[in-house]
Amino acid sequence: MSYYALTGVDTMQKKSIRYYLKWAKYNKCINLFDTEWWKHEDLIEFQEYRLHKILKYAYKHVPGYRKKLKLAGIAPKHIRSLDDLRKLPIITREELQNNPDLVNEEMIYNTLYTGGSTGTSLQYYESHKSSEIRWNAHLRGWSWNGYQPGKRLAVVASAQGTLKVENTLNLYGDLTKENMHKNVEEIKKFNPQHLRGYVGSLYILAKFCLDNDIILEGIESINPISENLYDFQRETMEVAFNCPVFEEYCCNDGGACAWECDAHEGLHYCMERAIIEENGSEMVVTDLWNMAMPFIRYINGDSVKFLNKKCSCGRDLPLIKVKGRDNDIIITKDGFLTPSFLVHHGIGIATAIDNKNRFRSGIHAIQYVQKPGYVLEVNLVKNPWCNDDEIKELNEKLSIIAAGMEIYIKIVDEIPKSKKGKRAFIINEDIDLLKKMKNLAQ
Ligand SMILES: [Zn+2]
Repeated sequence: MSYYALTGVDTMQKKSIRYYLKWAKYNKCINLFDTEWWKHEDLIEFQEYRLHKILKYAYKHVPGYRKKLKLAGIAPKHIRSLDDLRKLPIITREELQNNPDLVNEEMIYNTLYTGGSTGTSLQYYESHKSSEIRWNAHLRGWSWNGYQPGKRLAVVASAQGTLKVENTLNLYGDLTKENMHKNVEEIKKFNPQHLRGYVGSLYILAKFCLDNDIILEGIESINPISENLYDFQRETMEVAFNCPVFEEYCCNDGGACAWECDAHEGLHYCMERAIIEENGSEMVVTDLWNMAMPFIRYINGDSVKFLNKKCSCGRDLPLIKVKGRDNDIIITKDGFLTPSFLVHHGIGIATAIDNKNRFRSGIHAIQYVQKPGYVLEVNLVKNPWCNDDEIKELNEKLSIIAAGMEIYIKIVDEIPKSKKGKRAFIINEDIDLLKKMKNLAQ
């Protein structure tokens, strides 16, 4: 075990890894503002310590994992280092859906849902410590763009993206042209120091400000979340709001998260919260803290690439690039629709549940396929309680949002898989249009 003095940062005291491991053992948490300056080998050592702990726990207390590991002929003692990680079986979202064998009810502190931009929603649980480290990881990631709770923050997102912290303006309103002036007035009145929101939403806001010569003054940073950020979107936002973009990646089911620091050389992944593996291009993630519903080698549907270079900021937390879900965008005659835009407008999967503890939406799963000639095919799997009115409502919303497109809703038993075996939320098959749109935007 290596001891070393942490230097270079005023707030840091000379604390050793041993101190942290001991401290973490008893308090089951760590101070991420210290660990961000740890050397890579010490971060690895910490991950191995937590991995062993979570594995032993899952084996003992979560029957579904015990069964999976036994089937694979693995016991926790066989996993001695991160190199052994690949011996462990993979777990999928489908396996975790509605499977009480993979949950330890005694440890449930929070019930959460995936946002729906994956086409299906997962109800999942987190333990108290897991919730704590989620919040702390965010506080650290945001501190790199200058934000801390208490500063004025405008959040342009849907209900899933709201933030319940002081001095926050949450804009729920539609980002349709009719509502944009109202939104902008609210933002001006609030005078935010930081902007946060879905990439698609912030981009629409930025474009609107540029097109209408609206200047929002005093914004220090922009924090786009939840979907692929294209270079043209970053540039548009930086010009419109006259400050830098700090990208964020966060997928709470599985605990993978990463933030851009002020060197802007990639996103530093939070090694203290989860282990991210690059498996082909597929992201496989192991949550190091969640004992209510362990995610051990979970395929979260995103793709990741490790940049294999050291950031000039001095942090050893690896730099990654995340290519979001294996999906695309829908191109309408007026612009484009991103996954989060669809969720924002309530035509992804609703995540609210009713008093019978089931998803209120009658839509179980949904997939959008754009065909050449502005044709939009919607594959839809219904829940048993889905009625015609709900389908009609979906059709009406779509015909406004995707105006000018021919829309066909197809009721299917299950969402068709791609050649790679994935069930994408959006598939754009109009390759020419896709190329043209990306070129135009650059
Ligand atoms: Zn950095």
